[in-house]
Amino acid sequence: MINRLRVASVTLALLCLGVPGVFAQSTPAPAALPLTAMPSAISVPPAAQASPNFNAEAATDAYLAEIPATARERSDAYFEGGYWLILWDFLYGAVIAIVLLTFRWSARMRDWSERVTRFKPIHTFVYWVQYLLITTILGFPLAVYEGFTREWKYGLATQTFGPWMNDQFKGMLIGVVMGGIITVVLFGVVRRLGRSWWIWAALVSIAFFALTALITPVYIIPIFNKSTKLQDPKITEPILQMARANGISVKDVYQIDASKQSTRMSANVSGLGSTMRITLNDNLLRRGSPEEIQSVMGHEMGHYVLHHVYHGIIFFGIMFVIGFAFLAWSLDWSLARWGEKWQIQGIGDTAVLPLVFLLVSTFLFITTPIFNTIIRTQEHEADMYGLNASRQPDGFAQAAIHLGEYRKMSPGPVEEWLFFDHPSGRGRIHDAMQWKAENQKQ
Ligand SMILES: [Zn+2]
Repeated sequence: MINRLRVASVTLALLCLGVPGVFAQSTPAPAALPLTAMPSAISVPPAAQASPNFNAEAATDAYLAEIPATARERSDAYFEGGYWLILWDFLYGAVIAIVLLTFRWSARMRDWSERVTRFKPIHTFVYWVQYLLITTILGFPLAVYEGFTREWKYGLATQTFGPWMNDQFKGMLIGVVMGGIITVVLFGVVRRLGRSWWIWAALVSIAFFALTALITPVYIIPIFNKSTKLQDPKITEPILQMARANGISVKDVYQIDASKQSTRMSANVSGLGSTMRITLNDNLLRRGSPEEIQSVMGHEMGHYVLHHVYHGIIFFGIMFVIGFAFLAWSLDWSLARWGEKWQIQGIGDTAVLPLVFLLVSTFLFITTPIFNTIIRTQEHEADMYGLNASRQPDGFAQAAIHLGEYRKMSPGPVEEWLFFDHPSGRGRIHDAMQWKAENQKQ
């Protein structure tokens, strides 16, 4: 489950380019924001106002000084806790995989699937459903802590346990279908194509990944949240004007009821080709100033114009090829040592699946900074594009502060490289103030 979550989270990272919170959810938002939240209205501090002696460093510091100490401590603790969760998710998932292998539960699930049917694709699917169920049950305590308890503790959740469980259940059904399809296809590739299986498996995975990006906005997101066309011309007109000025032929902007699950503000570009769309969430609409909304939309348009979804598929595709090469080598190595003990007959045997997830999650754990850097680089490009498109440096600084409710504002450089899939809040404000110093009359 946890391993699966990690794979899913990397997938989602691309699909949602910049959006923790797409799958996040909506009871009416709490009447009062928690004391630890960032201020809703962020004014332009005197040091950041246009003047002949405007200084980007002083302006950045002045913005950061608007953040109450309690809010900063809370969001630092939340984000730093996330570093440890990367480790605990990995270890917890590894223990589950090792239990399934060493106690031969996986071999038994395979034997049982064989009794149901010897027709390989159905056999693989039956095994997959058992595997998903058992790993979801074993992974449940950590999933509750991570997705529910901890979100409430930090004032980021709006969803009670019942609706949260309902979302988890929907997620599992999607896992049965989507995970089932890719597992059946990949085992088919392994069984037919011999030693070069990993190259073909990588290509199939890239195609599946692109297909997922294509269908997610249309078929997956509506399972969790409702998207509606934004109607208010006061909000849509400046956005559509900006879109036209940047050669984007969208006619509509969408909003999504993310407040059903979370207080996080976000926006995203998702889909491919004709399913590509720009969506703002209702938290951003409710709490963001008009300048802030425009700066965020400029950023999202940057992703669109700079073809980040397509570049992401290429970058991730390269990582898939490397990952499958590692998998092919490490599977042979592990099976030569423990295959007999675990009663696994080879890489075409479905009982190998926990080992596959153990090795894939090891690869993803080690390469976390690489995936983060690929995404963060695109995010920085979108930031700069967005500043040029919206010409709202102060709106962008306000957005950076609001996003700081769930992201540490001022990390060290190594910390940012390792753990950040977006530029830090401080870095973003500094970019905005530098831009303001050099591109707007003081
Ligand atoms: Zn982004």
